Amino acid sequence: MTATRIPFMSLKPGEDGPAVDAAIRRVVDRGWFVLGPEVESFERAFAHASGAQFGIGVGTGTDALVLILKALGIGRGDEVITTPLSAAYTALAVMIVGARPVFVDLDPQRLTLDPAAVEAAIGPDTAAIIPVHLYGQPAAMDELAAMATRHDLAMIEDCCQAHLATFRGRPVGSFSVAAAYSFYPTKNLGALGDGGAITTNDAELAAKLKRLRNGGQTDRYHHGEPGINSRLDEIQAAILLARLEFLPRWTEQRRTLAAVYRRELIGSGVVVPPELDPGHVYHLFPVRSSAREALRAKLDEAGIETLIHYPVPIPRQPALASESPAACPVADQVCAEIFSLPLYPSMPETHAVEVARAIHVAS
Ligand SMILES: *Cc1c(COP(=O)(O)O)cnc(C)c1O
Repeated sequence: MTATRIPFMSLKPGEDGPAVDAAIRRVVDRGWFVLGPEVESFERAFAHASGAQFGIGVGTGTDALVLILKALGIGRGDEVITTPLSAAYTALAVMIVGARPVFVDLDPQRLTLDPAAVEAAIGPDTAAIIPVHLYGQPAAMDELAAMATRHDLAMIEDCCQAHLATFRGRPVGSFSVAAAYSFYPTKNLGALGDGGAITTNDAELAAKLKRLRNGGQTDRYHHGEPGINSRLDEIQAAILLARLEFLPRWTEQRRTLAAVYRRELIGSGVVVPPELDPGHVYHLFPVRSSAREALRAKLDEAGIETLIHYPVPIPRQPALASESPAACPVADQVCAEIFSLPLYPSMPETHAVEVARAIHVAS
């Protein structure tokens, strides 16, 4: 066994270290830890950076989706069309509110919802569509948003892997009634723990979401509606506010590393998904190979860490066994072939070149 030379990612603060330390110190010294000035400042700054009017800090990305669905009154008896290829939390959020996730297959190029398949799945119980901008690649939002409008359905974007991404120049999240973000440590904007946010341009919905994340309180200890308890900590908000300054550059670094991979992987035997929009923010850099397991084993021997996002289509997870298993052959094949290469903002470009070289040798 060789020691890992090229890690999949690094979560330790780097150039942002001093700013992160100062943010933590500020909160500790103030002695105010939940729903305070840091959360308010971060909500404003994050909404602005995401091209939205309002931001609502919440506990996780999953909660962000749950709260949006709740606020829109989506629950038992409703169907929500979503993707078979994502973190399972996208579909679990739908199940948490008692609605039924309906999975439709992927556009084989984008690996996001196929608009034609969505259209075919719309029925009398359909209440919403949740596309996921998977790996940082924006879904086909022009067609999907037009379809939601045409059928009078709620559009909710899962932006958990797509901070600052744009679709044809327009910010992701802006195609929806409300969009969900996660600040889980591995995301493009990560906290030092859990965190999430919702963005929206609807003032009334924003006010409702702020009540619902805090037990439905209208005033202290007065619960006007049944909310949940899902708040963003002051410490995490302060850290996120500090890191938000770095995010545009970190996003550029991700894009640069992706360009190196694209160039270096030509003729290597792995399939590199095409970049369909310069607004892609490369949360991950997945490639495909029909000999995935052998290839990953050789990379592992060479000290290169890779991961699979995701090994099982969501409708095939045991947790979803109560749902009718949707036929999603594209997702099935993608899950059998895909794996993600190391990529994080401070990764040296030489590492990307080395990974690519190892793939050429191994395949
Ligand atoms: C991470 C993620 C989530 C869940 O976010 P949490 O903060 O972990 O709850 C949902 N959807 C997608 C696409 C994600 O990547």
